[in-house]
Amino acid sequence: MNGQDGTNGMDEWDDEVDLNEHRSKTDDSEAIDFFPPNYRIGRTKYMFVTGGVMSGVGKGVFSASLGHLLKHYGFTVSQIKMDGYLNQDAGTINPYRHGEVFVLNDGTECDMDLGTYERFLDDDLNQYNYITSGKVYRIILDKERRGEYLGRDVQVVPHVTGEIKYLIRTKAHEGPYDIIVVEIGGTVGDIENIHFIEAAREMLYDEGRDHVMFAHVTQVPYNKSAGELKSKPTQHSVKALLQLGVQPDIIVCRSTIPLNTKIRQKISLYCNVSEKHVISSPDTDSIYRVPTLLDQQHTAQILAANLKLNLPQRFNRSRAFDIYLNYLSRSHKTVRIVITGKYTDLHDSYVSILNALDHSKVKLDVNLETEWIDTSEYSDGRPIKDNILDGISGIIAPGGFGERGAEGKIRFIQYAREHRIPFLGLCYGFQLAVVEFARNVCGLKNAAHTEFDEHSDMPVIYLLPEQRKLAEMGGTMRLGGHEVKIIRDTLAYKCYQAEQVTERFRHRYEFNNDYKDAIEKQGMIFSGMTPDEEIMQILEIPEHPYFIGTQFHPELTSRPYHPQPLFQAFLQAACAYAEDAKTDVPDQVTVQAGQEE
Ligand code: GLN
Repeated sequence: MNGQDGTNGMDEWDDEVDLNEHRSKTDDSEAIDFFPPNYRIGRTKYMFVTGGVMSGVGKGVFSASLGHLLKHYGFTVSQIKMDGYLNQDAGTINPYRHGEVFVLNDGTECDMDLGTYERFLDDDLNQYNYITSGKVYRIILDKERRGEYLGRDVQVVPHVTGEIKYLIRTKAHEGPYDIIVVEIGGTVGDIENIHFIEAAREMLYDEGRDHVMFAHVTQVPYNKSAGELKSKPTQHSVKALLQLGVQPDIIVCRSTIPLNTKIRQKISLYCNVSEKHVISSPDTDSIYRVPTLLDQQHTAQILAANLKLNLPQRFNRSRAFDIYLNYLSRSHKTVRIVITGKYTDLHDSYVSILNALDHSKVKLDVNLETEWIDTSEYSDGRPIKDNILDGISGIIAPGGFGERGAEGKIRFIQYAREHRIPFLGLCYGFQLAVVEFARNVCGLKNAAHTEFDEHSDMPVIYLLPEQRKLAEMGGTMRLGGHEVKIIRDTLAYKCYQAEQVTERFRHRYEFNNDYKDAIEKQGMIFSGMTPDEEIMQILEIPEHPYFIGTQFHPELTSRPYHPQPLFQAFLQAACAYAEDAKTDVPDQVTVQAGQEE
C-alpha cells in the first residue's frame, strides 16, 4: 500500500467482513462460495464501467484514464476488460473485425483496450485482466465434467456469474490492489453481456455499497437544428441499466461540446445521480487530456467518498502525459512515413504501431504524417509508381498472416532497401524482409515463406518445429514475452544499449538457419536471437541507413513514459532521411536511442 504517510488510505474505514458469514456449504443452500482462498472483502474496491446509447463512445479511454488518475493519487490500481464473445481470447478474431490483437507478457491474446490500459497504467497486465464469455464457459464446462459442482444443475446464475466474480476477485487478490476498474464490453441491453452486468450487480450485494461503484458512459448527442445537447438517449440507457438492478453512481457523458448546467440538471434528475456526479467528457484533441479532465471534475474525490477511502496523496500529474500535452501546443517539422499492410481501412488493426510512433514523435519533437498502402493491390506484379512514395521518409511493414498482400509487402521492402529509405519490419515484416533479401540479393530466386508456399524447395522461413504437430489454432502460437539476446556492435545494440531485452511475440514461423550463412555473406546480419542462439529475432543491414526487422512486436511494449527504442531510432532515421532527401542519399545515422525519460 502506498499512502504517503505509509497508510493504505482506508484505515478509518476499515470494515472488512468475515467471509465465513457469507458462506454456506450445505447441499440445499443457494449460496455458493465464489471467493478465492484468503480473499478479504473490503480490501479491494471495484468500479464497474458500463456503456450506454451506442458502442465506440470511449469507455476504454475513460476506464484507462480513471485507472491512471487513481494511480497518480497514490492507489494501487489494476483494470479488467470483460468481453461478451464466446472466443476464449482475441487470438482467433480477425483484426479487421475487432481491431488489433494485443498480446500480454504472459502470452494472453486480448482486446486492444488492454493495450490502452497498459499504456495509461504503465504496468504489465496478465490473463486475469481479460475475461471473455468463452473463457468463463470453458472453466465451467471443464469443472462440470470433473464433477466439481457437486450434483447441482449448472446455471447462468449463480455459476456463470459466480465464476466471473471469482476471476475478478482473483485479480484483486493477486495485487492486492486498492481499486480495480472493470470495464464491461458492449452496450447495456446487449444479450451477450448481460451476465457480466448481473455479476457486477451481485458483487455490489456480496461486498457491500462501500466497496463497489458503477460508472455509466453514454453519448449525449448534439441536435443541430435545436442547437442543444439531448439527454433522452442517456435517460433510456440508464433505465435499461436499472432494469438489470444497477443504479449508476456516476454518469460520464461523451459529447462534442462540454455539458452545460441545464443538461447536467436534466441528467441528474432523470437518472438519480447528483449533478456533481454527471461528468462532462467532450471531444478533445488528445486522449492524454482525459485524466486531467476527470480530475477537474473531482472524479477521484467522488470515488473516494463513495468507497470510503482517503486519497493517499495529492494528484501527482504524470510527467509523460504533460510532455505530450506540451508537445501539442508547439508546431513541428513534419515527417511522412507509410504503413504497408492489408487492413489499412481499419486503423484500429494497427493501433499499437500508431501509439508507438506517437510516443517516439513526442520524444523527438517532430510531427508525423502516417500514410497507408494496401499491399494486396500490389501482389499482381504491378509496378510501384515512384510518386506514391514521394516525400516518404520511412516504411513500416507490419505483422500479418496469410498469402494476401504478402508479395506486395515484399515489393515495398525491396523498394525501401534499394532506395535506402528507413525501414522497420515487424514479425511478418521481418520474415518477408528475409524472403526479399534471399531472392533479390542472394540469388535464391525460389526463396519462399511456407505460410504461402508450403512445398517450396527454398523455405527460408518455415514453421517453428513445435508448431508442426499442432492441430488447434487458438492460443497455439509462440506467444508473449521472451528474452532476446542482442549482439554487441550492431544497430540493435546501439538502440537498446543492452545485451538482453524482453520483447513480446506472436508467431508460428521462423527463420530457417540453413540459410544463415548465405544471407549473412551478402550483408544482412542477425543482431538479436534467443539466448540459446537457435531462433533469429532481429535482422539488420549494416550498410543501409536504417533497416531493421524484428520477429517480435516492439510496438506492444512502447509506453508514453518510455518510447520503444527501435521505433524511436526508426523515426530518428526517418527525420535524417527527410533532411538529406532534399540534397543527397543519406549517410548512416547516429542513433541516440536507449535513453529513457
Ligand atoms: N504469419 C507469421 C507467423 O505466424 C507472422 C505473424 C505476425 O506477423 N504476427 O509467423
